[in-house]
Amino acid sequence: AIQILGSINIDLIASVAALPRPGETVLAHETVRLPGGKGANQAVAAARMGGSAAMLAAVGRDEAGGWMIGNLRAEGVDVSGVQALDEVATGTAFIAVDASAENQIIVAAGANARIEPRLLLPPAVDTRVLLAQLEVPVATILAFFTAAGAKGRCRLLNAAPALPEAAALFAETDILVVNQHELVHYLGRSHAPAGPEEALAARALLTAPDQVVVVTLGAGGAVAVRIDGHFHAPAVPVVPVDTIGAGDCFVGALAALLDEGRSVEAALPVANVAAALCTLARGAAPAMPRRAAVEAFLDG
Ligand code: ADP
Repeated sequence: AIQILGSINIDLIASVAALPRPGETVLAHETVRLPGGKGANQAVAAARMGGSAAMLAAVGRDEAGGWMIGNLRAEGVDVSGVQALDEVATGTAFIAVDASAENQIIVAAGANARIEPRLLLPPAVDTRVLLAQLEVPVATILAFFTAAGAKGRCRLLNAAPALPEAAALFAETDILVVNQHELVHYLGRSHAPAGPEEALAARALLTAPDQVVVVTLGAGGAVAVRIDGHFHAPAVPVVPVDTIGAGDCFVGALAALLDEGRSVEAALPVANVAAALCTLARGAAPAMPRRAAVEAFLDG
């Protein structure tokens, strides 16, 4: 099983002809509310891959929180560790998208910022993977990864969005997943790695001999970087419709595959298929592929 400590958001998306300038008001021609938050997106991706996923998270005691809990439950995610907190709103991303798909996003963390170590529950006995991203407090992630019983399980950290203080978690992480932008941030460099060879600079982030850094490279696939070697899995050639959620899909699928006992190297090509299929549909959670679709692609 997979225990996921992470964010739950609602995404309020307004489609506009042109993004507003400071002081300007523009009219939206379409608005939509979608399930979001990296934690929730990755939980859905893992569950659709066939993983048994349990979330540790917080929402407000409001309609949006109830809606998200219902969405997750409908996906088969165990929500018994999701708390509804008083006096705080469910996390909300306010997103404006213009005609050329350029966007502006404001995130109100809401209840996600209030997940304290005391809200953590011990993992189920069959939990092999502990997964976190950086949309909840770093101190709570540290408590999650250092709790009794955490070591010995696979601690998977998607260090996104890039946050300077997250580096303190790396020594307590078994598998670190970053995209190119995050890699550049954590390395303190100015330009993104152009390909798998340059991604080997990720070695500088390793703190122990058996750790792995997985760098996702968009249309370049993904590379697993170890202290003494690396493995590159090229992306699946697709013509993306919408790459929103591809990173979350990759991480959630990776968690489910690791939970089955696969090695990182064996999991990467399959996670690439899942993430590529995710780019063929709009949105994040709604676009996560089911295991059967991933297997059908691999077979044929
Ligand atoms: P993020 O979504 O965090 O920016 P990436 O762009 O690296 O992360 O994408 C994550 C994964 O999604 C990649 O490793 C790859 O498997 C898949 N992916 C993303 N873009 C494409 C693409 N254009 N073609 C095929 N696969 C893609």
